[in-house]
Amino acid sequence: MNEQGLSEKEIFSFLENAKSEDTDYYRVLSSMCTHPHKIAVEAHRLFIEANLGDLGLFAGACRLEQEVVRMLGELLHAPSIVVPSGGSCESSVCGYLTTGGTESNIQAVRGMKNLVTAGKKGFKGVPNIVIPESAHFSFDKVADMMGIEVRRASLDSEFRVDLSSVESLIDINTMGLVGIAGNTEFGQIDPIDKLSEIALENELFLHIDAAFGGFVIPFLEKPQPFDFKVPGVSSIAIDPHKMGLSTIPSGALLFRSPSFLDSLKVNTPYLTTKAQFTLTGTRSGASAAATCAVMKYLGNEGYRKNVHYCMQLTEKLVTEARKIGFEPLLEPVMNVVALKVPNPDLVREQLLERFGWNVSITRIPRALRLVLMPHNTLEDIELFVQDLKKVTAEI
Ligand code: PLP
Repeated sequence: MNEQGLSEKEIFSFLENAKSEDTDYYRVLSSMCTHPHKIAVEAHRLFIEANLGDLGLFAGACRLEQEVVRMLGELLHAPSIVVPSGGSCESSVCGYLTTGGTESNIQAVRGMKNLVTAGKKGFKGVPNIVIPESAHFSFDKVADMMGIEVRRASLDSEFRVDLSSVESLIDINTMGLVGIAGNTEFGQIDPIDKLSEIALENELFLHIDAAFGGFVIPFLEKPQPFDFKVPGVSSIAIDPHKMGLSTIPSGALLFRSPSFLDSLKVNTPYLTTKAQFTLTGTRSGASAAATCAVMKYLGNEGYRKNVHYCMQLTEKLVTEARKIGFEPLLEPVMNVVALKVPNPDLVREQLLERFGWNVSITRIPRALRLVLMPHNTLEDIELFVQDLKKVTAEI
């Protein structure tokens, strides 16, 4: 660090210089995040100092977090419960705001493990979970840190998890299953209703990673079942900082039953609250405010328009790509396209070097992976396909 402080002018010129190296999402077709909505940015600023790690000091921010959990519970069809006093509770959903899909996935599996080791099931040996091969790499972190075995089920020809493969991997030490509602590479949705049947038959937890799809699927014309309406679903990860248009970091983890959340509790002796069930200690109240504000501002109608726009971009991309002879690996389910092109790694490199397009590649099979987000335009798509044509013609 410098001995004496710099002037404001010097600092901001330094920052602007760094900022000029960012893409600002220009020609970005590889990201599942986007510009946060301006309402979210304003709300974020307003609560910039709020720490949800010490709830007693920030009762207002805490209330906003609860309101987000309530709204997300409603969006994801959390069931109602009747409380013993005879009063009826609007929703039994419980959960909290995380830093994103990674934390939500880690905590969901930690909850399974805690409930299992608390004696709810008789296990012999190392506990395991069964996830689809298409699962996000956050599950590699789960495998690394949780002392459990992560078993990967193969995919069917449509890049959904293969149910017979899932069944073949379940044994006495299996704690739970994971289904993906909007997988990272293909935007595909696993057969959650069938996974639910398997989970219920085998008395297993079922966690749904809807980090990306959670703010997409409910707003599609024909939504597939993926949320708490499906009886075996025990927890859901959904990220407001992706298609929810909130600020980073905004993730959320919801549980069907409060016992799940309870299993994550640790005592916090010197804070204003007695216990914490989150992974991180200090947490951003600004994210809670941002998410609350943007959800209330847009409402279902606003998110429906957002998804409709991204699906229009998706259709445009597929139509234009077909005109130059390239087919998608699967008909897009949501705003993610995996495009079959010759030599995708070289195409990706050339698109970036020559035209500044940021695209990514699926693992198996290798294809161009394109995510159509609110920061993209129909003109972008036309230009992109023209550039793709030039690049592939010369390879
Ligand atoms: N799950 C899915 C399906 C994702 O697509 C992603 C990120 O793209 C994650 C989890 C991880 O989310 P984050 O990067 O916010 O931790």
